[in-house]
Amino acid sequence: MIKLYNTITRTKEELVPRNNKKIQMFVCGPTVYDYVHIGNARTFVFFDVVAKYLRYRGYEVDYIQNITDIDNKIIERAQKENADPLEYAKKYTEIFKQDMEALGVTSPEYKNATDHIPEVITQVKTLLDKGNAYVIEGDGIYFDLSTFPDYGKLSGRTASMADDAVSRIDDSDKKRNRGDFALWKFSQDGDPSWPAPVGAGRPGWHIEDTAITEKYFGPQYDIHGGGQDLIFPHHEAEVTQQCAAANIKPKDFVKYWMHVAFVTNKERKMSKSLGNFEMAYELLKKYPKEVLRFYLLSGYYRSPLDLSDKILQQSEAGIRRIYEFVQKASLANGNGEESIEERIKETRQKFFDAMDDDFNAPQAFASVFGLIREINPALTADSLDKNSVKKAKEFLNEVDTMLGIIPSKLEKIPDEVLELVEKREKLREEKNWAEADKIRAQIEEMGYRVDDTIYGPLVTRR
Ligand code: AMP
Repeated sequence: MIKLYNTITRTKEELVPRNNKKIQMFVCGPTVYDYVHIGNARTFVFFDVVAKYLRYRGYEVDYIQNITDIDNKIIERAQKENADPLEYAKKYTEIFKQDMEALGVTSPEYKNATDHIPEVITQVKTLLDKGNAYVIEGDGIYFDLSTFPDYGKLSGRTASMADDAVSRIDDSDKKRNRGDFALWKFSQDGDPSWPAPVGAGRPGWHIEDTAITEKYFGPQYDIHGGGQDLIFPHHEAEVTQQCAAANIKPKDFVKYWMHVAFVTNKERKMSKSLGNFEMAYELLKKYPKEVLRFYLLSGYYRSPLDLSDKILQQSEAGIRRIYEFVQKASLANGNGEESIEERIKETRQKFFDAMDDDFNAPQAFASVFGLIREINPALTADSLDKNSVKKAKEFLNEVDTMLGIIPSKLEKIPDEVLELVEKREKLREEKNWAEADKIRAQIEEMGYRVDDTIYGPLVTRR
């Protein structure tokens, strides 16, 4: 049984898709005015793993992610650089897709907001016709919160607490209620705009998502994901629009809401506005994608994950440990007699139990490392039987299919250096620090350095 934490009910629930083994999943994608940082990447890598894991477990997952390619931030940035906003967004859409590919994010189907303007207009019109929306001349079309008593079911806020929902695009002193948000902005100052019976203009911040999901999934679907910052006001506004348009209750719109906690830098949310970000593409120059994926998955997704050189180094050590294990297993002859099939079966079960429990990847990793620690000596001594070697390889292959964390190639560390590292580990276990330090110096003379991490020693070029 797969369980997941549902933001709208605030409990862990059993995953029961609306339609048997079919799952419709939507995740809020980027606003394409800049490169994505590693905080954004956490959300995208996490949901990539959710989709891959569910597919591996036999579900047919229809996974859509939107790309916000029309927005105030895009218009402002493009103006600063004297560029056409739509062309500017196109450039960063391509860069975003390249970054995702470089991070091994391959599961979603992307849908641009600007390709769904007719669907946006239809939804706005429905809300106008039903009396849930109203026009402010020369400004835009707004949702009237007083027409929707269920407002706040997702975030736990009330309409009167919705003041901070007001971003620049939603600001107007002619609104009926402070928290009313824009569905459509009439064209002004040469901003990009589309002809519409309601008046030429462009979509507000929230409406593209429900226009896209209604087109592909209908007014009800299974999973909606995003970063925690989107619960309010963005996702609350989605619930409001779609439920009002389709006459449904908030619990009947999206069955499971999942939200990923932030990547923090020195304990503050990583964000472009705070300037404490690390771009994903910059980190990809320093670390293989598997190391970054492992780092992003190494904390439970509902807890903040701090970024530091030390944590990235630990992740590198973790990935090297798995990689070297796989290498050893592929070289092992399996001529020994020791069978560890039961142990592998047990680990595999623990791995699935952890992932089934709200996608607890760090706990799943712990079971893999436990197995590696235990059977490494037998692999080195080539004392395992053929079947055990085969099963160990198969299990790690499965892990890789679901999580994408095993590199096909890493920089080779010479065997002489690795032998010294192993020798130093033994000395450290015996608490023979003086001799261990001598070996470290020897390793350094050979042009390498060793750092001790929670996943074991990490060897890198000096
Ligand atoms: P944006 O381009 O700002 O709309 O963000 C794209 C996605 O990244 C959204 O799902 C955000 O919730 C998510 N996100 C933004 N900052 C962070 C962060 N520091 N950690 C994790 N996710 C984030």
